[in-house]
Order: sequence, then C-alpha cells, then structure tokens
Amino acid sequence: MHDIVDLRSDTLTLPTPEMREAMARAEVGDDVWEEDPTVKRLEAIAAERLGKAAGLFVASGTMGNLVSVVSHTRAGQEVVLDLDSHIFNYEVAGAAVIGGVQTRPVKTARGFLTPEQVREALRPANIHIPPTGLVCIENTHNRHGGTCCTPEEVGAVAAVAHDAGVPVHLDGARIFNAAVALRRPASDFARHADSVTFCLSKGLGAPVGSVVCASRELVARARRVRKMVGGGMRQAGVLAAAGIVALERMVDRLAEDHANARRLAEGVARLPGLAVDPVTVQTNIVIFGVQRPGEVGASQAATSELVAQCAARKVKIHAIGPTSIRCVTHKDIDAEDVERALEAFGEITSRW
Ligand SMILES: *Cc1c(COP(=O)(O)O)cnc(C)c1O
Repeated sequence: MHDIVDLRSDTLTLPTPEMREAMARAEVGDDVWEEDPTVKRLEAIAAERLGKAAGLFVASGTMGNLVSVVSHTRAGQEVVLDLDSHIFNYEVAGAAVIGGVQTRPVKTARGFLTPEQVREALRPANIHIPPTGLVCIENTHNRHGGTCCTPEEVGAVAAVAHDAGVPVHLDGARIFNAAVALRRPASDFARHADSVTFCLSKGLGAPVGSVVCASRELVARARRVRKMVGGGMRQAGVLAAAGIVALERMVDRLAEDHANARRLAEGVARLPGLAVDPVTVQTNIVIFGVQRPGEVGASQAATSELVAQCAARKVKIHAIGPTSIRCVTHKDIDAEDVERALEAFGEITSRW
C-alpha cells in the first residue's frame, strides 16, 4: 500500500533500489565515441530480446520513434499509421519537422491497421503523389487502452508493406506488456518489423530511456540521426545500468499489473455512471467513460469532479478526453491500492 495511489501513468514508476545501486556502480565511458560499456551491454541485451542484430539507447520513446522514422525514410515520402497512434498524436510532429515526411493517418476500429487498410493506403507510382516510405504499427495500443495484436496480425500487416518494398516500424513502447499478456516472446512481435522501439521508463520502471532495435545498417543510420537531434549522450551508462535491471528483473512481473488492471476494470464496471469495455482491458491500461446517471448530455463536469475528488482522497487519475478517464497500473500500484481507488470511485459515484 502506498500513501498516494497514482494511476495517471506507468511513467511515474520510481527506480528500484537495485536500479539505484546498479547506477552507482556502472562502468561508464563516452557513448558518442561508442566507449560506454554499460550502454553497449544494454543495447546488446535489448537486441537479443527483440531478435534484432543491434540496439540503440535513446532518451525517450519519442526519440526512438523519431530516429527510426527518419532513418527509414527520406523527405517527401509518406508514413502510413493509425489515426489514434502515439506518433501521429503525441510526438509534436517531429517526423514532419525533422524528417520532412507526410503522415497518412488511417482510421481503424481497434487501433490496428488491417492488411486491407495498408494495401489501400500504399501509394502508386505517379509523378503527383508522395511515395509511401514506411508503415508504423503500435503494440500495445496506448489510446485504445493497452490492447494488443498478435505476432501473426503484425506479420500479416507487415507482409503487405514488404511486398510493396515498404519497411515497417513497430512502436512497441509497451511491447513487453503485449509479450507477457499473450505469453509470447517479444521477438515474435519484432520479427515482422524492420525496427522496433520500446520504453524502459514505463512499466519496466527505469528512470530514463528507450531502445531502438533493428539491423546494423539501420541502427548506424539511427545513431547519426540521434546525434542530429541532440541525443548523443556521454557517460550514459549510469542510465543504461538501470535499463539493464529493468530488462532482466522487471518483465515477468508485468503480469501483476495486468491482474490489477483487470481487478480495477471489474470494480469500475459495477459502479453507476462509469462504463468500461472489458474486451479492451488486456494489459495494464483501463480506460472508462463517465456518464452521470440521469444527466442529459455529456458529463464533462462530473468527469473533472471525479478527477478532483479522487485527488482529494490521494488517488490520482487522468482524464484523456472530456468524459473519459485513463488508469494505468504499474509496479508502484498493489492490490490494496486498487481497492482504495475503487473505494474512492464508489464513494464519489454514490452521491451522483
Ligand atoms: C509513451 C509512448 C511513447 C513515447 O515515449 P516517451 O518516452 O514518453 O517519449 C511512444 N509510443 C507509445 C505507444 C507510448 O505509449
């Protein structure tokens, strides 16, 4: 049990004592000169887990996606992705600004492009038309509530792109959540993609960092782009050391977060005025809608009141839309914390 139950994001996880010790002890060097042994070890471990030839330690998931997109494409090309994807919505148009590419957002039912949608989105050769340079997939899907697609679904989408000579990038910020939920190695998902980015700093609990995994050629290109955007870090081994602990110790326990998310969703489903689709609760994210019983029209005020009244009870939740709330379970949330959150929701909604 924790004093504050913070369900706003798994990025709020604090480094473990083991991570802090590893950081203090880390052997370091200048990583821009490729002389930091701890960064190299992290990159090798990450590449091995994802079944790729090489890895690149980057400052964030956003930087990982950016350097990947820019490394795969040239200016003037088009990148096909889902309308609700993180790259399209939350990465400050970096691919357009730095990479000079145009994004082609496609509306999907569950956040995952179907092979048919990719086929339709691919551009024909024509002097008027921007050529398709890349297809991006997000797994697990953030805005769709941590839903996962299977390695076979990733493969089917990638096959259409590859048949057209177009590479595929997997935004696998939470790929280990998908791997644990579907009981498949992370490399099964990564196999079909030409590059994959995953975050060490979310459910895996490291304070900073993501890793891009891909072929040696692509990682060499991404290393240049990383330098261009100011991501060439020097004695970064102090950060990578925590990332190694994250990969070696924190993956299997994600199953606890998934169980807690399910418990939370089941409790929310029983409360008046809160609605959750249990099908979407597959990993550590619970998104629910707020509609105060009897209220005509959207319950925007009730939603912001719920957030504020929860905060007053030391339960922090996050509104991701006018009437939708996102809760994320993680290593600093235990079963008792879930009960406390449900009690707070119950007290507040019982007065509606
Ligand atoms: C969090 C997230 C990112 C970006 O990671 P940051 O480290 O916050 O920059 C990218 N994609 C998805 C799907 C995410 O959830």
